[in-house]
Amino acid sequence: MIKDQKKIDEYYEMIIQKNPEYVGIFYVGVKTTGVFCRPIWPSKKPEKENCEFFETAKEALLASYRPCKRCQPLNIPSSLSPEVRKLIAAVEKNPERKWTDRRGLEREIENLRKKFNGALVPGTNNVLKKLKLELNHYFKGSLMEFSVPLAEELGTPYQKKIWKQYLQELL
Ligand SMILES: [Zn+2]
Repeated sequence: MIKDQKKIDEYYEMIIQKNPEYVGIFYVGVKTTGVFCRPIWPSKKPEKENCEFFETAKEALLASYRPCKRCQPLNIPSSLSPEVRKLIAAVEKNPERKWTDRRGLEREIENLRKKFNGALVPGTNNVLKKLKLELNHYFKGSLMEFSVPLAEELGTPYQKKIWKQYLQELL
């Protein structure tokens, strides 16, 4: 999400003006509707405090916004990997679904905390940095395989078995 107030002011001005030069430069999520749009769309303009701006449609999706049905901010560049195209197609088919379940995430963190019997604190490390880099490349379509290892001790024996089979099918 864009936090720079100068940019926010600039982008808000651009959605008021419907400046077509900004299409693809940013996306705007409207808190009151939970929908995100390209800079130009025909509906009533929201108040500035209800807008959140994003550099990519992916960021807007991850912030729990649904793609607008009118201006369809999820266009599909051909360079995307098949998995991401599938995901985008699924979101477009079922845009009402919540793709980021914040409560679910909280539960997940709580489960991890119990499992490892330790506090989870916000921060970063080399593995996370690498994962972030690889995810960025993946979503740009320039990376198909991850080199960041998965923790072997996570998951039930059944989940581990399925994961192993899944990896073999991929190879
Ligand atoms: Zn729209």
